Amino acid sequence: MIATPDYRALLDTAIAEARQGLAEGGIPIGAALYHNDGRLLGCGHNRRVQEGDPSIHGETDAFRKAGRQRGYRDTIMVTTLAPCWYCSGLVRQFNIGTVVVGESVTFAGGIDWLRENGVRVIDLNDAGCIEMMRGFIAGNPEVWNEDIGE
Ligand SMILES: [Zn+2]
Repeated sequence: MIATPDYRALLDTAIAEARQGLAEGGIPIGAALYHNDGRLLGCGHNRRVQEGDPSIHGETDAFRKAGRQRGYRDTIMVTTLAPCWYCSGLVRQFNIGTVVVGESVTFAGGIDWLRENGVRVIDLNDAGCIEMMRGFIAGNPEVWNEDIGE
């Protein structure tokens, strides 16, 4: 790790993915997997609606786009919204060292569990991310509840 990464700059990649998802008629959650040295390994967004596939979350999409990596300890999963249990499990399974979330106000997901298990979680509490999710949830409550398994 060279220096403390600019987490806000990394979040911008995830936000751009979320906006693309929204423009496609999908759920606005985007993610990006970065190496600690600043390299972008992969990015993606939730495509439940677009592909009819409930397994494509922002985090899983970014993870798959990154392809095979030797290890994940020195990677950062950046996501516009706190990861759900499914994506928190992915973080634990592959020992991703750091998770940066845009916000955890509209949905807290598994961030406490991740912290308890030694994952570094940075919550940027970004007003733009909160507003984007609030707007989507208010306009599409059924799709949202389907996404979080309720
Ligand atoms: Zn998820």
